[in-house]
Amino acid sequence: MTGKKKLKVGILDIVTRRPRPTLYGRVMHGNLASIMPQAIAVWCEEEGHDVTFVCYTAVEDLFTAFPDELDILFIGAFTQSAQLAYAVSNLFRKKGVATVLGGPHARCYPEDAQLYFDYVLGFTDKPLVTDVLADCSQHRPMGLLMSARGQPVDLPGVRERWKFIEATLAKTATNFKIVPMIGSLGCPYTCSFCIDSVVKYQPLDFGVIRDDLQFLLTKFKRPIVGWHDPNFGVRFDDYLSVIEQADPDRRMRFIAESSLSLMSEEKVKRLANAGFEAVLPGIESWYDMGAKSKTGAKQAREKMLQVADHVNMIMRHIPYVQANFVMGLDSDEGPEPFELTKEFLDRTPGAFPAYSLFSAFGEAAPLNLELQKQNRVLRFPFHFLNNNQAMNVKPLHYSWPEFYSRLIDLKKHSFSVKAIARRAQATAGWIPKWMNVVRAISSEGWGRIKYHSDMLARLETDKSLRAFFERETEAVPQFYVDRVRNDLGAFWDHLPDGALEHEQNAYLHKVQSAAVAAQ
Ligand code: SF4
Repeated sequence: MTGKKKLKVGILDIVTRRPRPTLYGRVMHGNLASIMPQAIAVWCEEEGHDVTFVCYTAVEDLFTAFPDELDILFIGAFTQSAQLAYAVSNLFRKKGVATVLGGPHARCYPEDAQLYFDYVLGFTDKPLVTDVLADCSQHRPMGLLMSARGQPVDLPGVRERWKFIEATLAKTATNFKIVPMIGSLGCPYTCSFCIDSVVKYQPLDFGVIRDDLQFLLTKFKRPIVGWHDPNFGVRFDDYLSVIEQADPDRRMRFIAESSLSLMSEEKVKRLANAGFEAVLPGIESWYDMGAKSKTGAKQAREKMLQVADHVNMIMRHIPYVQANFVMGLDSDEGPEPFELTKEFLDRTPGAFPAYSLFSAFGEAAPLNLELQKQNRVLRFPFHFLNNNQAMNVKPLHYSWPEFYSRLIDLKKHSFSVKAIARRAQATAGWIPKWMNVVRAISSEGWGRIKYHSDMLARLETDKSLRAFFERETEAVPQFYVDRVRNDLGAFWDHLPDGALEHEQNAYLHKVQSAAVAAQ
């Protein structure tokens, strides 16, 4: 620290966009913390600064959560929390604090974020954070855009992050506590809609993972680890060997996202034996992405039948399977994709379906450039961009009413009382059964059916809303403005002017400007 000013650093990990706790939130929000804000907290302390770390789960009072005279505030946010993050940043900037945005929103919408933060970070590693701390000044009206050349080559492990993890897990209302760990960054697959498709696959240090797992066994009787790897198990044998060595008594339980292609029966048995109790394979579409589901060129019903067999095989060994789908992709047309998904659910009664609406998050993925060129991206406020509350890409083969009608029909099929009962019956273990029932009858299942049904009714009756959906106007409908105001509560007054809107084609404009400059 010699010669360096000791800074008061605030770190805010926003996991929810609404300052109101719900029952689900009290159980789960503390389990949804990100790893990067914890890593930044460790790096700031290593640099000798005073750190106040807050994982925002909706129960904290952000007006008083940080000490007075903070020098700098780092905020990590997904796009759905952007408006809350902008309001918090504004509140602190008015007090003279320098603010920094990192995380997915900063990577997807950097130019927009520059309007509301002093620093906006792309890829972030320790040298980059050290540079920000050394500068620690106001950059207004346009924040400074900074990025490392790639993802960090290493990250602080659980042992180093423990005090931040422990404080965050203490906020969960039950003993169901998930420790966030990561063993790899990026993905070797190239799903064109995915932010990780353009990040080189890179395993992290397996020695750190082994040490972290052994450390966790001293903290919990039966620890639960949620792997944050975008695609767990690319280096399957290395990974599993480390887990098996670290936990010979098989006390640990694990949750991971993995593509079906990496889950042969032999591997699934090994996962189950190592303590994996939940896996989240991405099926995405019945027409594309054959490589990641190991269905090759098979399409439509043929692919569905193969995937259903595959998922049933996994469920014979692992109790909880969440099947991820993206609805409204350009390859979808007519009733078939929805009907195939229904048949898939009938054939795999134990699997929990998770539906994402096809969305284009700024410059997250290569496909977004093409969608912006085609003028198909809508200017929904960020607050609704969470793959569920809004679909910001105009579907290629559906009118909006047709799309919503088919989506509602599929969801009613997925979360009918009969389907919930069959799912509970086909699932082993009371925690997986309980999770499936709660998710189906809460805001995720029945809640979204109601939300989409309201939306369909509005599309038929609210002319300004329909005009916005049809790209006839950019004016954000009052319906959405009112919802943001209601959701932000006291933070609405701190939302900067203009922060409800953004340039939805900023990525295209940037690429075009770069091309002109290069001529
Ligand atoms: S397999 Fe999953 S993580 Fe990898 S690029 Fe595709 S969607 Fe992204």
